[in-house]
Amino acid sequence: MGQARLRGTPEQRKQAAIERQLALRPKYIKCNNCQAELSDMTPLDIADIKGIEAAFAAHCPHCGHDTYAIKGEREAVAQMHMAIEDAAGAQAQPGVVPAANRR
Ligand SMILES: [Zn+2]
Repeated sequence: MGQARLRGTPEQRKQAAIERQLALRPKYIKCNNCQAELSDMTPLDIADIKGIEAAFAAHCPHCGHDTYAIKGEREAVAQMHMAIEDAAGAQAQPGVVPAANRR
């Protein structure tokens, strides 16, 4: 990249990553819960995740369910799904944190 403009700031690289992702963006994500077709999706920040090419989250306006579309190596995708499920599971039941579980 001798004569190209220097494009090295983390901000620019992140933007480039997002643009790369948008190129891989599916037409819609099908809601895992009610099968609605969700065309409004948000690219996730995957800059630091190895093996993932693109990841999108769509929030279903019909049932409130979040569905994720993740593209990349099989294992990396599975791992990211698990991480999301863990995080979502923890947030999904904020009112149900039985103290009994602590012990
Ligand atoms: Zn739904």
